[in-house]
Amino acid sequence: MVRELLEKARGLSIYTAYNTNVDAIVYLNGETVQGLIDEFGADAVRKRMEDYPREINEPLDFVARLVHALKTGKPMAVPLVNEELHTWFDSHFRYDVERMGGQAGIIANLLSNLDFREVIVYTPHLAKRQAEMFVRKPNLFYPVVEGGKLVLKHPWEAYREGDPVKVNRIFEFRAGTAFKLGDERIVVPFSGRFIVSARFESIRIYTEPGLRPFLPEIGERVDGAILSGYQGINLRYSDGKDANYYLRKAKEDIMLLKREKDLKVHLEFASIQSRELRKKVIYNLFPLADSVGMDEAEIAYVLSALGYDELADRIFTYNRIEDTVLGGKILLDEMNLDVLQIHTIYYIMYITHADNPLSEEELRRSLELATTLAASRASLGDITSPDQVEVGLRVPYNERGEYVKLRFEEAKRKLRTKEYKLVIIPTRLVQNPVSTVGLGDTISTGAFTSYLAMLKEKGEL
Ligand code: AMP
Repeated sequence: MVRELLEKARGLSIYTAYNTNVDAIVYLNGETVQGLIDEFGADAVRKRMEDYPREINEPLDFVARLVHALKTGKPMAVPLVNEELHTWFDSHFRYDVERMGGQAGIIANLLSNLDFREVIVYTPHLAKRQAEMFVRKPNLFYPVVEGGKLVLKHPWEAYREGDPVKVNRIFEFRAGTAFKLGDERIVVPFSGRFIVSARFESIRIYTEPGLRPFLPEIGERVDGAILSGYQGINLRYSDGKDANYYLRKAKEDIMLLKREKDLKVHLEFASIQSRELRKKVIYNLFPLADSVGMDEAEIAYVLSALGYDELADRIFTYNRIEDTVLGGKILLDEMNLDVLQIHTIYYIMYITHADNPLSEEELRRSLELATTLAASRASLGDITSPDQVEVGLRVPYNERGEYVKLRFEEAKRKLRTKEYKLVIIPTRLVQNPVSTVGLGDTISTGAFTSYLAMLKEKGEL
């Protein structure tokens, strides 16, 4: 089933934008963490953890947010706003691996490696170092304008010298890693990663003015678009531009892509620390999207931005399925989406309106492909060919699977769900993942493209 569905999805052409960066990865061990705590003193770290800085301005902000992430075992991303800290990081850490980062980059490489018909990736900054992180496959293209025409080139042939490079530092941690914060012994409960994402003036999330007139042509050429990276927009820039400006442009981009044909657009939402920006992204862009994907922490943040603070707090504190379902229904309705996909460590869920052309069984199959691909990536670190879906198929469903299904049925009975299609599946969970970067993107890509493939088969695309 999963294999056949992947086969169908591979017939599609997909456009993806905007964010790419270089991920510099550090595999953390207990000693390194202990060293950092000792350098600043446990009291200072603890105090700064209470302040919970939303940005990294100085090294102690980083250490405090890192220890917080390790203690909870939850994946987190915090923006680094002080460019001078590069030297501090580079003198404290040796990077184990450098690889493609950013959702658009990860998704483009994944689709290309899965041998999709055509993958067009756009990222506003394409330096040589960045371009070389794309896989060298003949189905991958970067749009450029030459002689007043749209030309598709491989990213390796399209790079521009002098473009800025965004380097994100990724600290991968493993369940069981132990260290001491003063008298407190901390054991990391889950494997995950802490991302220090570079937010600098020179990096903007937008489509260059020269390319924008060609977005309708690109939209016509593909079956769907996967857009992400809006978390990289700053509230204000020194040249006077602000988030409102870039979000207006982002809205226009979606409308341009949809101008010649009503192609389906998926937005992949990532955590946005600033509540103000989060709210703007939701209100400006969600209503223009057909499909949105996010994880459980993100749905809580989104609900809180929409004013459902109590429900958001419940999701943060108890992680109950019925609250997530309720929150999903609210979001689906308020933003009038076709489909909302929420992934968590133990389950993945789709919520659609009752008139969705796909049956619950078909929706379930789409999620099956999604978790299988994530399990392949978690096992291998990367997916380099379509037959690697087999690796994921050998990964068992997590041990809470049956419990998850039970709680879900219970939630369905309690809540009014007649006007919706609701499906949930347990995840295939890899015990010792090679890496956890990009797993959410992989889930969303597998889910959205297989959803599109089934729509297309029904003549609904
Ligand atoms: P995100 O938080 O958006 O990066 O998404 C992470 C998702 O990847 C989780 O919600 C899980 O569904 C999936 N995932 C995380 N860890 C593993 C693992 N070890 N094996 C398979 N899937 C995983």
